[in-house]
Amino acid sequence: PYDVLVVGGGPAGAAAAIYAARKGIRTGLVAERFGGQVMDTVGIENFISVPYTEGPKLSAGLEQHVKEYGVDIITEQRAAAIQRNKLLELELQSGATLASRSVVLATGARWRELGVPGEAQYRNKGVAYCPHCDGPFFKGKHVAVIGGGNSGIEAAIDLAGIVKHVTVLEFADTLRADDVLVRKARSMENVDIITNAQTTEILGDGSRVNGLRYTDRVSGDSRDVELAGVFVQIGLVPNTEFLRESDIALNPMGEIQIDERGATSIPGVFAAGDATTVPYKQIVISMGAGATAALGAFDYLIRASVD
Ligand code: FAD
Repeated sequence: PYDVLVVGGGPAGAAAAIYAARKGIRTGLVAERFGGQVMDTVGIENFISVPYTEGPKLSAGLEQHVKEYGVDIITEQRAAAIQRNKLLELELQSGATLASRSVVLATGARWRELGVPGEAQYRNKGVAYCPHCDGPFFKGKHVAVIGGGNSGIEAAIDLAGIVKHVTVLEFADTLRADDVLVRKARSMENVDIITNAQTTEILGDGSRVNGLRYTDRVSGDSRDVELAGVFVQIGLVPNTEFLRESDIALNPMGEIQIDERGATSIPGVFAAGDATTVPYKQIVISMGAGATAALGAFDYLIRASVD
């Protein structure tokens, strides 16, 4: 068995594996795809001490760093379930089972997509999901935020300070965001809010976004808005479906509940990164959380009874 088995090969998983392996304990890492969301990212300007890098480059760096230690890396495998017998047992979709004394879950999350024409085509070419990450790329331009929940309205307020103009489109007839956020957004001169708006298409010139089309759900009319970017803010879904049958406590959004050491509700199981209740989802934050979870697991192991 492993001493620490890390599930996930994004920033959180890579950091956890490195911190665990540096303790000289048997460390394994199983991931569907090394790099995680970082592989889907083009420009990264907030990875502290590196003013600019790109997703595939950072991802290769993560993998190379993990490989410098004797970590047993298993990729293209999906975890399907976890249970505690004498040891923790991670069942893979392939049918194999991996046993370990402790586990760090770092399976990340995925942005909920609109599923309209143009969204996939213009991803990273004007279609963005992370205002903290991509907001500054739209300085002085007109952008839309799709979604009037807390994350959408927060994004609109955040972007309004950087871009020229923000149009918020909400499908429902009211905004679901907290009142204080809605009042703040409405008070901003360069923010427009349109409710009852069903986005039907992201428009572009073949290489970049230049607008979007929506249907006014009251009149039924189709309207086009000219803009340079579209921030989709309709939810971040944690990759924790495989934990539903386990005893690991998740919050109502499906995020793994952790304490300040990354411990979950099952002894010996730790978690880190976007899959957890950590409030902000970012690369540097996930890396720090991965380190915390690995150190938490190490502390657990040195206290666990020797058998
Ligand atoms: P992830 O990166 O999501 O990695 C999860 C890992 O788990 C992957 O290896 C995946 O294959 C694996 N996995 C998932 N389910 C299973 C399973 N069942 N079994 C086995 N393996 C599994 N953040 C920034 O700080 N700066 C940016 O500029 C930035 N830009 C972004 C741009 C885009 C387009 C996106 C999508 C995100 C961006 N982010 C950015 C957010 C950042 O990428 C995430 O916060 C970070 O990657 C989270 O790391 P993580 O390790 O928790 O999860």
